[in-house]
Order: sequence, then C-alpha cells, then structure tokens
Amino acid sequence: MDILNKLLAIDINYIVAALIVIFYLLENLFETQFKFDKMRVHLFHNIMIQLSIILGGLVTAAVIVTAVEWLHKNHVGLFHYIQMPVWLKLALGVVAFDFINYWFHRTAHRIPVLWRFHRVHHSDSRMDASTNLRAHPVELLVYFGLSNIVAAALFGLDLTALGLYFLIIIPYVFLEHSNIRFPDWIDKTIGLVFVTPNIHKVHHERDQYYTDSNYSDIFIIWDRIFGTFKFKPPGEINLGLNEFADDRKQTFWYLLISPFINMGRVSSEKSQKTKWKQNQLKGEKTAEQVRACSWETIKEK
Ligand SMILES: [Zn+2]
Repeated sequence: MDILNKLLAIDINYIVAALIVIFYLLENLFETQFKFDKMRVHLFHNIMIQLSIILGGLVTAAVIVTAVEWLHKNHVGLFHYIQMPVWLKLALGVVAFDFINYWFHRTAHRIPVLWRFHRVHHSDSRMDASTNLRAHPVELLVYFGLSNIVAAALFGLDLTALGLYFLIIIPYVFLEHSNIRFPDWIDKTIGLVFVTPNIHKVHHERDQYYTDSNYSDIFIIWDRIFGTFKFKPPGEINLGLNEFADDRKQTFWYLLISPFINMGRVSSEKSQKTKWKQNQLKGEKTAEQVRACSWETIKEK
C-alpha cells in the first residue's frame, strides 16, 4: 500500500507528459502500424487539446474528488456491505470503473448530443499514441467525470480505487492508440480478456459498422458479453470520420468548437452497403431509403 500511496501522490500531468515522450520514442524505434505524414503537426494539435483538458481539469478534478469522498464517507454503494480484503476491493474497483465507463462510452455513440463531443476523439485520421490525448475537455472532464462518480456511487469505491484506476488506464490507453505493429497472437490470447491495440483500432475505423463496437477501455469482456465485439485486421483499417477528413478540420481549435457545428454523420460507402443489405433482409426497402442511400453515400478516399 505504501508503494501505491507514493504512486498516487505523483501529479497525473507529469505521468501524461512522460508517456507522451516514451511513446513518441517507441513509435520511432519500432515498426509502425500506419504510415502517415505531418506527424509532428499532428502531435502538436493533440497536445494543445490536452492542455485545454489540464486547464478544465483544475475545476472538475475538485468536484469529482469531493463527490467521491462524500459518497465514501456516507457509505454509499455495494462494497460497503460486503466484507473483503483491501486488495480485492481495489482490484474489483478497477473492474467496476471500467464496466461503468463501457456503458457511458456506448451511450456516447448512441445519443446525438453526446456524439457531438465524442466524435472529437474519433476524428483523428492519423493515429499514434497522441490520439489518446484528443478528447473534448467537456466530454472527458464532465461526462466521463460523471461516469466515475456513478461507478463510485453504485459500487462504493473510494479515491484510492479511483487513483489506482487512473494509474492503470492512463498508460493503457496510450498503448492502445500507439502506432506500433503488434503481432496477431496477442489478439488471440490476451485479447480474449483485455483490449489490445489491434482490437481498439477497430473502434477507430471510419465505417460506422465498426466505429460502433469495442467500447471497452481495459476489459474487452464487456464487449464480448454485451454483443458489441467486432474485429478487422489492422492493415485494413481506414481511420477517422468522413466528416473530419479535410485536414483543416484536424486543428485543435476546430476540434474544440466542432461540437457546436452542425454536421450530419457521414457514413462510409461500406456502411451504407451494410445498411442496404440489412434493409433488404428485413424487406423494408422503400423509395425514400433508396434515395437516402445514394445521397448520403460518400466515396472513401
Ligand atoms: Zn468511441
């Protein structure tokens, strides 16, 4: 517990800064999964978004800490009523935070106003570890901040469990997004229980059929249990979103204001074909659907 307390005392921003440097070096040392240009410009914009998250975090971190402390002092949540060793409570706490985040993430893909903020993370048409920094501050701090408070309230989790969860998930999401080529056997073994980088990259595929899958952060078992697991070889993945394909929409400033800009979700041709096939199977094809299909379809680059 002493080691854990020492680790928890480290400023989270120092950990993030160190991880940016470590993964930048690793991505330059190892064979990359994706080849892309403007890598440093890409890194700059993603770091600028991270700086906005740090600024916003000065306010929301205090709210989250106060809420979780209050809940714990008032014995709110399941684990207050079950006797178990501290280490087990901490381990189950990490599982519980991940479980609730799965549902919040899944909901962010379903509800249009939430998707407006969440699409910022999916907008990246290049991918390396810095893509993990690209999240809208409102979403990360308010929406996923609320997700952690809900997890603490339901399961009775304290600040130590939340700190441990952050200590695990922060390096883990850097790894998931890293532009490093990982062998298939990792997906076939570790990937049965944990999210692997190849599995997470499917979530960043442009085709909505795949974007709306693999919502888990740490344990892929949530997707496997609740029927949202999908796989596609990383070499076939077309990253990003069609509505952000223009490089002028890849700047940190545009990304910050983008939730307030109306833009329909532009499905890929493949996604439209999938929908078309599903409609045919259901026998629901109508003249309107045929027109919608041809109007909305945009050829992928
Ligand atoms: Zn997502």
